[in-house]
Amino acid sequence: MAKTILCACEDVTVEDVRRAFALGHRDVESVKRYTGLGTGPCQGKSCLGLVARELLRLGATPAEAAPFTVRPPLQPTPVGAWASVDPAPLRLDAAVPPEPGPGAPPPAPAPLPARARVVVVGGGIMGLGLAWQLCQRGETDVVVLERGYLTSGASGRNGGGVRAQWSTPTMIRLARRSLELCARFAAEMGINVWFRRGGYLFLARTAAQRERIERNARLQGEMGMRTRVLSPAEAAEVVPELDTARVLAASWNPDDAVVFPWPFLWGYAERARALGAAVHPFTRVTGFEISGRRISAVVTDRGRIACDTVVNAGGAWSREVAALAGVRLPNRPVRHEILVTEPLKPWLGPLVSDLDSGLYFSQSLRGEIVGGMGDPEEPEGLESGSTLRFLARFSRALAACVPVAAGLKVVRQWAGCYDVTPDNNPILGAAGLENFLQLSGFVGHGFMMAPAVTEAMAAWMTGGPPDEIFERFTIRRFERGEVRREDFIIG
Ligand SMILES: Cc1cc2nc3c(=O)[nH]c(=O)nc-3n(C[C@H](O)[C@H](O)[C@H](O)COP(=O)(O)OP(=O)(O)OC[C@H]3O[C@@H](n4cnc5c(N)ncnc54)[C@H](O)[C@@H]3O)c2cc1C
Repeated sequence: MAKTILCACEDVTVEDVRRAFALGHRDVESVKRYTGLGTGPCQGKSCLGLVARELLRLGATPAEAAPFTVRPPLQPTPVGAWASVDPAPLRLDAAVPPEPGPGAPPPAPAPLPARARVVVVGGGIMGLGLAWQLCQRGETDVVVLERGYLTSGASGRNGGGVRAQWSTPTMIRLARRSLELCARFAAEMGINVWFRRGGYLFLARTAAQRERIERNARLQGEMGMRTRVLSPAEAAEVVPELDTARVLAASWNPDDAVVFPWPFLWGYAERARALGAAVHPFTRVTGFEISGRRISAVVTDRGRIACDTVVNAGGAWSREVAALAGVRLPNRPVRHEILVTEPLKPWLGPLVSDLDSGLYFSQSLRGEIVGGMGDPEEPEGLESGSTLRFLARFSRALAACVPVAAGLKVVRQWAGCYDVTPDNNPILGAAGLENFLQLSGFVGHGFMMAPAVTEAMAAWMTGGPPDEIFERFTIRRFERGEVRREDFIIG
């Protein structure tokens, strides 16, 4: 069959773009997210004009056909070159800006219902996963409101790491359940999520980190996991390219995995819609009508919806969303940067995480190395621009960890926001008002927690017995002083 290719790097055809447009992905940024166009080595240089012309032909407005922001670096550039840049004097506020806004709404969006039993604010993996889980349990009168295109928040910007190596029984149980659900997502939802069980390898360079991974590995072993603490030589058997000179030990679980995040959102959204839920992108929640101790309606820039229950799944915007209802959350948004290299033949098995520097990287099924690293100097804020400082810090750390990676070319960097709580644990259940449920505060591990947590939340919301997480992670823990900090955090 003949096919007309628009994006040669990612093999996106004119038919793919037409299908995306027919499904409501009208602006270039949304179509990029849906098809992957422009995410390959040429970064849209060869396809953007063709795609914009095709969208205009299909009926897009000039604003919708505006090109997406080309992400730095402007040209594929080796990690070794960035590693030679001294990050110390580089400023975090000198950022290349992210795309200008959450995308353009379609000219005639589907009307909002006058009322719904459950309104979910935020169409990230939490909101969409919850909608699908509710529908599965017969609660189909659910509306998800997303201010931008689907995948515009952290769920469309993350590293796709899913690991069960945690330090508490609760987190281990949730993550293992998520891994199970991720492994069968493609078959169950009919969409490829590029699930790859290559394991996670945590590197410890100090005695304190070694002790930590040994403690965790003991607990994980007691819970039936295959985690082992490896010597540096054994770690080099898992990743022969590692420079283990300064590694004291590593912790290795072959059952951890990486995924490609975007199709999870499409899968949840499409399946939830098929069961009766409504998902409205480009619909911003601007306020709440409150009567007594309850929210009676959600107000949006496209009208109001009377409701019985509201779920705040606003990710890094959760605090802002809660404030619209007069509820204070202790969450803080903090930028986290990440990048991707040119694709290579498969060579890296696990996701490697260096506990001392915060560096992590993995190879996707598409062959790219995807990696990030937190910055202790990053201030609070809903900032998602990209910095040279990150590029330099990350490249130094990567080249030191795996010297052969110095030759790899970085093709794109971007950023998203972590939704950080004082103890690095989520906030779940009612806060402030009786029918205002929180599903937020997942820091840098919300993607991997979402399948299990949304399952538990939907079961609880539809009358099932409450999982212990709703007591453990209630906002009331801060008043009660029952705060146990989660510190096995990457980045
Ligand atoms: C760079 C990076 C790397 C990461 N790597 C990993 C990883 O490897 N593994 C992992 O498990 N996690 C990772 N995370 C964390 C993970 O991405 C998040 O925890 C998770 O995606 C949170 O999902 P969410 O649905 O709560 O938030 P989001 O995906 O951010 O969704 C919230 C949505 O709410 C919408 N919204 C906000 N305000 C409003 C409003 N007023 N009205 C309507 N909609 C609104 C936003 O547009 C947004 O789409 C990473 C995060 C980042 C930034």
